Amino acid sequence: MKNTNKTATDLRYKNDLILVAGAGGFIGGSLVRYFHDRGFSRLRAVDKKPLGDWYQRTPGAENLCLDLSCEENCRRACEGAVEVYQLAADMGGMGFIERFRVECLRSILINTHMIEAAWQAGVDRYFFSSSACVYNTDLQKDPNVRALKESDAYPAMAERGYGWEKLLSEMLCQEYRAERGLKTFIARFHNVYGPWGTWDGGREKAPAALCRKIIQAKDEGRNRIEVWGDGTQTRSFMYIDDCLQGIDLITHCDRLTAVPINLGSTELVSVDGLIVLIEEAAGIKVERVYDPTAPKGVAGRNSDNAFIRSVFGWEPSTPLRTGLAKTYAWIEEQYFDRKAGKRTVS
Ligand code: NAD
Repeated sequence: MKNTNKTATDLRYKNDLILVAGAGGFIGGSLVRYFHDRGFSRLRAVDKKPLGDWYQRTPGAENLCLDLSCEENCRRACEGAVEVYQLAADMGGMGFIERFRVECLRSILINTHMIEAAWQAGVDRYFFSSSACVYNTDLQKDPNVRALKESDAYPAMAERGYGWEKLLSEMLCQEYRAERGLKTFIARFHNVYGPWGTWDGGREKAPAALCRKIIQAKDEGRNRIEVWGDGTQTRSFMYIDDCLQGIDLITHCDRLTAVPINLGSTELVSVDGLIVLIEEAAGIKVERVYDPTAPKGVAGRNSDNAFIRSVFGWEPSTPLRTGLAKTYAWIEEQYFDRKAGKRTVS
């Protein structure tokens, strides 16, 4: 890590108002807690879900239930904010984004109104959570992929629906910087996982879904799981703590104003490899029943981290084995809590 790297702690007063949009979800909820743990005292958390459905609620935060696809609500959310972290989106794993393209595209309303409201409110820094789904899908047809570098988004052939919405919202961030002077920051997340993420219900991503299936198989003593695809698709997965640190670094780096940057791990793993790691955490072996007709996304995708390394001398580096062990333990607890009739995240 370079000692010139700056974070909110270096640049902000502890009573500067920080707004996190999408705070009822996985990354947004974790980000509110992250700033709280660093001593920030004015945190505004916004989500459209009823408060009882938020994954996390941080003590002392101002929690607002607002639908940010409405312009007026965005103005209310941004009032007085010094920094805005825009993580609200209608999204999920491949099962969701392949099936609900209209919902994914409609997140453009959130991004259109939030950036305008932030600019009008005189916000100092605006962070946007983009995705590796912006990358040209033609470059992702082989499981032995070349890692994707930032310039690979153009010529554009993004993931239909979700990816195109993110790409256009990135452009909004760039043009608000160019024409109106708003300092915007854009991270392209590559699959984030960890405790407090969605683990059931249709929006969960592969690591959480496979943890849940193995926990359930173990619990029911049948040791057999269904796997989407043929097990060969490859991805990299970033642990939530790395994601939060990356968001903080990126948002406080002036060199990255309006410049999209990968925020992901380079530890490439196949779905079969992922299952082996989860089996280790579970202490069992499972029989795999592959479903080649299920949604599986591109054949392979990895993050090229040359740029982020050159900027910060840092990159997400939590080993998948370590992060998965923690995630597995958390989902197992959730699973048995739900079985016992207690309130859970998914
Ligand atoms: P999440 O679904 O857990 O959280 C998103 C939150 O946004 C949800 O709580 C949802 O209720 C809220 N939301 C949706 N529409 C809203 C609206 N109209 N008004 C207010 N709130 C609304 O997802 P996450 O995993 O925490 O992802 C956060 C951001 O990061 C999203 O923008 C997502 O596209 C992006 N991202 C995530 C990943 C990942 O692997 N998790 C990868 C790439 C990009």
